[in-house]
Amino acid sequence: MVKQTIQIFARVKPPVRKHQQGIYSIDEDEKLIPSLEIILPRDLADGFVNNKRESYKFKFQRIFDQDANQETVFENIAKPVAGSVLAGYNGTIFAYGQTGSGKTFTITGGAERYSDRGIIPRTLSYIFEQLQKDSSKIYTTHISYLEIYNECGYDLLDPRHEASSLEDLPKVTILEDPDQNIHLKNLTLHQATTEEEALNLLFLGDTNRMIAETPMNQASTRSHCIFTIHLSSKEPGSATVRHAKLHLVDLAGSERVAKTGVGGHLLTEAKYINLSLHYLEQVIIALSEKHRSHIPYRNSMMTSVLRDSLGGNCMTTMIATLSLEKRNLDESISTCRFAQRVALIKNEAVLNEEINPRLVIKRLQKEIQELKDELAMVTGEQRTEALTEAELLQLEKLITSFLEDQDSDSRLEVGADMRKVHHCFHHLKKLLNDKKILENNTVSSESKDQDCQEPLKEEEYRKLRDILKQRDNEINILVNMLKKEKKKAQEALHLAGMDRREFRQSQSPPFRLGNPEEGQRMRLSSAPSQAQDFSILGKRSSLLHKKIGMREEMSLGCQEAFEIFKRDHADSVTIDDNKQILKQRFSEAKALGESINEARSKIGHLKEEITQRHIQQVALGISENMAVPLMPDQQEEKLRSQLEEEKRRYKTMFTRLKALKVEIEHLQLLMDKAKVKLQKEFEVWWAEEATNLQVNSPAVNSLDHTKPFLQTSDSQHERSQLLSNKSDVNARKILPSPCPSPHSQKQSSTSTPLEDSIPKRPVSSIPLTGDSQTDSDIIAFIKARQSILQKQ
Ligand code: ADP
Ligand code: MG
Repeated sequence: MVKQTIQIFARVKPPVRKHQQGIYSIDEDEKLIPSLEIILPRDLADGFVNNKRESYKFKFQRIFDQDANQETVFENIAKPVAGSVLAGYNGTIFAYGQTGSGKTFTITGGAERYSDRGIIPRTLSYIFEQLQKDSSKIYTTHISYLEIYNECGYDLLDPRHEASSLEDLPKVTILEDPDQNIHLKNLTLHQATTEEEALNLLFLGDTNRMIAETPMNQASTRSHCIFTIHLSSKEPGSATVRHAKLHLVDLAGSERVAKTGVGGHLLTEAKYINLSLHYLEQVIIALSEKHRSHIPYRNSMMTSVLRDSLGGNCMTTMIATLSLEKRNLDESISTCRFAQRVALIKNEAVLNEEINPRLVIKRLQKEIQELKDELAMVTGEQRTEALTEAELLQLEKLITSFLEDQDSDSRLEVGADMRKVHHCFHHLKKLLNDKKILENNTVSSESKDQDCQEPLKEEEYRKLRDILKQRDNEINILVNMLKKEKKKAQEALHLAGMDRREFRQSQSPPFRLGNPEEGQRMRLSSAPSQAQDFSILGKRSSLLHKKIGMREEMSLGCQEAFEIFKRDHADSVTIDDNKQILKQRFSEAKALGESINEARSKIGHLKEEITQRHIQQVALGISENMAVPLMPDQQEEKLRSQLEEEKRRYKTMFTRLKALKVEIEHLQLLMDKAKVKLQKEFEVWWAEEATNLQVNSPAVNSLDHTKPFLQTSDSQHERSQLLSNKSDVNARKILPSPCPSPHSQKQSSTSTPLEDSIPKRPVSSIPLTGDSQTDSDIIAFIKARQSILQKQ
């Protein structure tokens, strides 16, 4: 058991504007426990009566200042936790701080650069690297990704995400067993056998989250996301299984509603926006107070899910993210205060070992059999009943592997049953005779020049029959696969047709990422070993496919508008940059691949040369009747050192290629995500334009919105006002999209591209416009914009 208080770290985000001097200082030397001092400027500290403190000091395990990079944060915070998870302990890392302070950046990473990847991708990389190194155990890894919003749990990896809005998916609910263990119903667990698969799941969840979010709810600031890596390990042959969970948690923004400003209390403990954060604080307070018997975990879903992480069986780490700018000082101080309370909580982590009863039964059965055999031998009561078919087959297998084993110390273990011992001798004798006959036949066939039509020996015949059977099976499997593929392709075609038809009748969500039935699911409440493989790569390609399909199905006018939107969007620079980097990495990988192939063939040649040299020396020895020299000659030495060098080069290049592969995969995922985001924002923009055109006259409007694509929070806010006044929960529905939806049908028309798109959209799918007057307004508007943009 490891007893440990929750570890607290602070990370200061670089300011948006230039560094503001004197707001905080970090003292690294104070008895090895660093402290962060936040200094309130006088104008903020002053009340009517100037009796406020002017500076606040908080201790942390370690403080990461603005210049700390993601690698440093991972190495110091996440790596030790990942290490204990690998050893079989539960771990949790959660980020706490106000919106914009860098929680998502720290936990998941930035969306722009590969070097900005956060704790989740780096931890996955580290864990899979370690698993590969350790061959002494069998590991299985599963991933789940839960979002909690307004006290409701959503499975971000639910394969039906693509097909339905969040509200239509079954909610993740909490079940408690008699031992007070928490189980999450409706949360799918997906097996990930490689880093790539796990990374794909992370991006899939993030994309699903992004798609479900609409501008009016900004759920990402108000929801909690829990990415969990479930790891189980077992030594081969052992019945003990270890389970460990690693929760990586991106909490909702911790800001409070009211800042009362002048004359009020600056550090007023106003009402929380987020009720579950309020309950989290209550749990933390209860845990940090001694002699409290009741801890109110059950008050909220988040505290129930994280129950083990808070005062339970887990090694927990908190990262307080701070945006230390003047206007954020009160929030930063309350984040630090929260951290100080968290630091008082003691956890007791234990190894989560479980005995697999099935394996124990198997072991006991074997033991009973052995004891029975021994007993029979000792008492002299030999068993007389014949060995069963299965036993005979098992014995023959044992003999075969014994004979094939090159190890001179290997033993043929058949136990103390004399029937088995006899059968072994009998079988060995038979094999020996068969071999002799075969050799005789070969010799006689050579000498008598007979043809090779010897009757096949029983053994050989059986082998050939087995191989034939195997091949037959393989062919059957392949034929079945082919049939399935064909059926899938037909279904996809059919579905595509259906989708279009459906869309005419109802507004389906704008994104459908793959077939809802494709992913195989399992519930968390059942054992992870039952989880079935989730074809992530298939998912991703289907995600991409749908996106491309979506563009294809956009009307031409819409496509043109989208092209302009894309060109002027702030993110397009990032996408282009990443495209360039990706190109570079691809060509680097290609060149590296070629060098690796070269090195491989060079290694082959060198080995061949060494062998040749050996043969020559032996031949020389025989012809000159000399003993072969024990020491290799100089030439051979040289060849060997070249070989070693080449092998080293090969290994280095191979490692680099592997790293490149991960980087390429990550960049591709980043780009996919950015593209989906762009597409989504375009839909919103398009809907907004339609509304504006309906409200205002086109001429005024086109001039007012020369550059509406560049996103600002204000414009988003306005947009949200325009779009809907729905409540938060309702607002989480995926927006119906009038034009860029993947399901909007392409119209056959000979009109101009822009005109093509709008008038012919199905009336039911256009929430804000429907008459041709408004539609031509849109066309006029876009044309006006195009000409303005061209002039610019
Ligand atoms: P939160 O999740 O707490 O609301 P984000 O992680 O989304 O905040 O961060 C807000 C913005 O600040 C993002 O654009 C992010 O890229 C940037 N950011 C946050 N932390 C850092 C950092 N340490 N270095 C560079 N940029 C950061
Ligand atoms: Mg965030």
